[in-house]
Amino acid sequence: MSKYKHLFFDLDNTLWDFDRNSTEALTELYHKYNLENLGVTSLETFLEKYKERNAMMWDEYRLGKIDKATLRDKRFELTFWDMGLEAELAPKELPSEYLQISPRKTILFPHAHETLAYLATKYTMHIITNGFVEAQEIKLEASDLTKYFSEIIISEHTGYKKPDLNIFLYSMEKSGAKAEECLMIGDGLEIDILGARNAGWDTVYFNPHNHSHSEKITFEITSLDELQLLL
Ligand SMILES: [Mg+2]
Repeated sequence: MSKYKHLFFDLDNTLWDFDRNSTEALTELYHKYNLENLGVTSLETFLEKYKERNAMMWDEYRLGKIDKATLRDKRFELTFWDMGLEAELAPKELPSEYLQISPRKTILFPHAHETLAYLATKYTMHIITNGFVEAQEIKLEASDLTKYFSEIIISEHTGYKKPDLNIFLYSMEKSGAKAEECLMIGDGLEIDILGARNAGWDTVYFNPHNHSHSEKITFEITSLDELQLLL
């Protein structure tokens, strides 16, 4: 009999394949707006530069150095600048269209649905995510994930972002869970795993690409279906 009662899942790159869904959306925009005609050398360059710039700006956003509007509206212009082009050349429609297209993509990690359906019969499950409210809600609905979860905790609602201890305390209060009953499952070593551990929770590090590390973690998996053996 497992001591856990509440499973808390991260969303992006744990259940919902952010990298592949984002690549599909960016590829569509690249062709729709003929970015090659604007001086972008190749699709691969655009994807690489956008992802670098986006990751950098998400770190700045998480640390409170930039606000949501700056992240959302400037990341494409700055990607153009990173590619040695005039920032003003970036089509003005890119920020809003990306937010329309990307969350409606539905690529999940293998075994996501079967694993969640199995776990839902044994545990109360929740989401804790750092994304934007509107995007995260669309992702959960479009991918038919909402039905598995009791509480959907989005950093924008709580005012705290993982790994801030406060979002884990808030999650316990909201779900009525004690720390020893909680298990956090996520791909972010610092954001999900160290954050939850700091709150006294056990953790499952979802590490599909086998990143090396030296942290002490309760469980580590490379595929979601391993959860069915652990839990
Ligand atoms: Mg993640």
